[in-house]
Amino acid sequence: MDTTERTLQEYYLDLESKHGAHDYHPLPVVLAKGNGVYLWDVNGKRYYDFLSAYSAVNQGHCHPEIVGAMKEQAETLTLTSRAFHNNKLGEYMKYITDYFGFDKVLCMNTGAEGVETAIKIARKWGYEKKGVAENQAQIIVCNNNFHGRTSTIISFSTDPNSKGHFGPYASGFIHVPYDDLDALAKVLENNPNIVGFLVEPIQGEAGVYTPDEDFIRGAKALCKQNDVLLITDEIQTGIARTGSLLAVCGNCTCQGDCEQQESTYVRPDMLILGKAISGGTYPVSAVLCDNEIMEVIKPGQHGSTFGGNPLAVTIAKKALEVVKNERLAQNARELGEIFRTEMNLYIAHSNIVKLVRGKGLLNAIVINDSPDSDTAWNICLKLRDNGLLAKPTHGNIIRFAPPLVMTEEQLQDCISIIINTLKSFENNP
Ligand SMILES: *Cc1c(COP(=O)(O)O)cnc(C)c1O
Repeated sequence: MDTTERTLQEYYLDLESKHGAHDYHPLPVVLAKGNGVYLWDVNGKRYYDFLSAYSAVNQGHCHPEIVGAMKEQAETLTLTSRAFHNNKLGEYMKYITDYFGFDKVLCMNTGAEGVETAIKIARKWGYEKKGVAENQAQIIVCNNNFHGRTSTIISFSTDPNSKGHFGPYASGFIHVPYDDLDALAKVLENNPNIVGFLVEPIQGEAGVYTPDEDFIRGAKALCKQNDVLLITDEIQTGIARTGSLLAVCGNCTCQGDCEQQESTYVRPDMLILGKAISGGTYPVSAVLCDNEIMEVIKPGQHGSTFGGNPLAVTIAKKALEVVKNERLAQNARELGEIFRTEMNLYIAHSNIVKLVRGKGLLNAIVINDSPDSDTAWNICLKLRDNGLLAKPTHGNIIRFAPPLVMTEEQLQDCISIIINTLKSFENNP
């Protein structure tokens, strides 16, 4: 960067720093444009996006069909509130429930609102269907979970940074270690007040922890035995990211037509989606479940001014169509295999990288240094200089999650950038 380029970047960094809350610690790069797998900064330098806004941009930046649908609807009707009906909501509700195979959907905006919604539905189901005594409902969650930032959700976070000094905390949550069916079975035993098990099929924020193949299947069986709802948070893992439509689809590549395929699908009782449901253009989230669960919600008991607005649902329908039409789940699966294979070849001779893990195009490398070191951060700065944007998560882990519209050629280019960058840290950790 020359002086004028640096000055321009600093101008924007200063404005944010002076006038905005310091609730994030962004990588120092100021982006001005996106297209497909690429981002451009204010100086016109091009980067591969290897974060995809935490997997919200699975369909690629500014996807022309999604932006087209968005523009058209923005000029027609954007918000009616749910005080009235609109001519887009019903068709979207039919589309998304068919797409994911549930009776009903409840529309919200952000992921955290989706999680809050699922918690409320599960509790109400517990009182009205399971017969739990008033105010006694409990929900099991996992250690190192990430489900969002509201005061109820951070109450059951185990990350001191997310939760510290935000008390008093909401009660009614029990923790179990992730990927530990014995612990889950033990907590479920003789505890009739438990109404739900809220779980990420892969823990994304925690550092892309992929559980044992049988974890979710086993959890489902235990939930069923104990009349407890399995609630999967697929806000980050869902919508083709992990090489299937949902992470709970396992190795099934059918993209939703499970009847026709040999299925490894584990059906949750409640499914929470967000992020990529709009292709990164607009906050859209959804909770899906069947009638006997959703019917506990009656008029006036839950809602959101913007939830299910005509603009949001038009975008979401198009964004989901793109996932199918462009076979993004298959692409994520194939490119993910290539990525991990190539990275493993490198890691076999590396001192700076301990391992690569993940599924589809949700992957992470673990840097061989203390979690308190700034090595992962420095690697991300160097990756940026070399034209690729990624961000450390939890100290020494770097998450790699490019848009799913990437081609194999682009991926090979990215693998070269990543490996060449890592090589420059090998003797100099
Ligand atoms: C991002 C995320 C959320 C929260 O979504 P927001 O839209 O940021 O509120 C919840 N759960 C998981 C698994 C996430 O990755």
